[in-house]
Amino acid sequence: DQDSSSGYIKPVINKAGRVPVGIGRRRMRVVVTGGAGFVGSHLVDKLIGRGDEVIVIDNFFTGRKDNLVHLFSNPMFELIRHDVVEPILLEVDQIYHLACPASPVHYKYNPVKTIISFTNVMGTLNMLGLAKRVGARFLLTSTSEVYGDPLQHPQKETYWGNVNPIGERSCYDEGKRTAETLAMDYHRGAGVEVRIARIFNTYGPRMCLDDGRVVSNFVAQAIRKQPMTVYGDGQQTRSFQYVSDLVDGLVALMEGEHIGPFNLGNPGEFTMLELSEVVKETIDPTATIEFKPNTADDPHMRKPDISKAKDLLNWEPKISLREGLPLMVGDFRKRILNEDEGKGA
Ligand code: NAD
Ligand code: UDP
Ligand code: UDP
Repeated sequence: DQDSSSGYIKPVINKAGRVPVGIGRRRMRVVVTGGAGFVGSHLVDKLIGRGDEVIVIDNFFTGRKDNLVHLFSNPMFELIRHDVVEPILLEVDQIYHLACPASPVHYKYNPVKTIISFTNVMGTLNMLGLAKRVGARFLLTSTSEVYGDPLQHPQKETYWGNVNPIGERSCYDEGKRTAETLAMDYHRGAGVEVRIARIFNTYGPRMCLDDGRVVSNFVAQAIRKQPMTVYGDGQQTRSFQYVSDLVDGLVALMEGEHIGPFNLGNPGEFTMLELSEVVKETIDPTATIEFKPNTADDPHMRKPDISKAKDLLNWEPKISLREGLPLMVGDFRKRILNEDEGKGA
């Protein structure tokens, strides 16, 4: 259904009489910063799949070429090794700005690099400057962490959050809050078309194996026959979203007419103990757990209110935790096996 000579993709009208998102529009040239990472690489696959030209900017801080290697021979794809902290000149229609060291292990290990070496601040500023210069639409991947340890449950976008400005995770939380502020300032001050997504915990294939997030930890531990490490009493809750649902939401937001912020997450809420049970059922019925001390400022509960995204973006997640977890196990097994072979095991 693609007419490559004109650069247009033929419109297809769905049953509701509307042109579905991404179809019947001009072929876009899209930048994805952080496109070699977990979420970014899945987003790139979707954009390439619908006929867009995609430029990935990544410094491989946590991302991997492996996540994109299947696209290297595709003429619609380009990979630039670049740190978004440095300015860059490109001519593009849309910018998905994902670049950010996103895992607790990395930001606690190097908080200054996360916030002050400016990935969140200078990186976002540069990408907004680029958007302003070329008139591109700019989408920021913010986070549910802007709500901090929330006093409202579930969290709505109107909630301003309960964030510790001087704690261990502040570099990430406050960095993203600043990025949101910058996006809105460029929107109000320079007329940049911005979109803000507040992403809740997301999992799936290509997640970093050892980045310390709970789903990747439990899945890798169960595969390696190690006990799953439950921090604290395991009663804290999170809501886990499968990556393809998130990618659909990001594209719907970019293509839609609303700035946001929008919560993008799966409202299904689990305690960490419940999560360990699902991992056990999925991977290894003999898997065990081990309690470890929790980290400071760990949010007690988190669950998105997604009514705004449902109403205005016509989006909601489709894949439950029990359906999604099995979809990442094959990828994790393969990578853990490769790692073991690499160590000569
Ligand atoms: P990831 O670590 O897999 O991807 C981040 C990517 O950004 C990596 O490829 C990394 O190399 C790149 N990067 C980091 N600093 C950079 C820099 N200075 N210049 C260029 N590239 C740089 O993480 P992810 O889970 O894919 O997260 C993607 C985005 O979504 C992040 O902005 C993150 O804050 C946000 N987010 C993710 C989740 C989640 O659960 N995965 C939740 C909330 C928000
Ligand atoms: N910028 C960039 N690419 C561009 C345009 C701008 O990287 O195509 C950077 C620029 O170097 C600056 C930042 O974006 O550091 C903000 O740009 P803006 O034009 O808003 O601010 P100014 O350059 O006027 O301070
Ligand atoms: N967690 C855990 N075991 C682990 C890693 C994390 O019990 O091996 C807990 C952590 O304390 C937190 C929850 O899981 O309460 C989610 O942590 P993660 O770092 O994945 O995400 P975030 O805190 O950013 O939502």
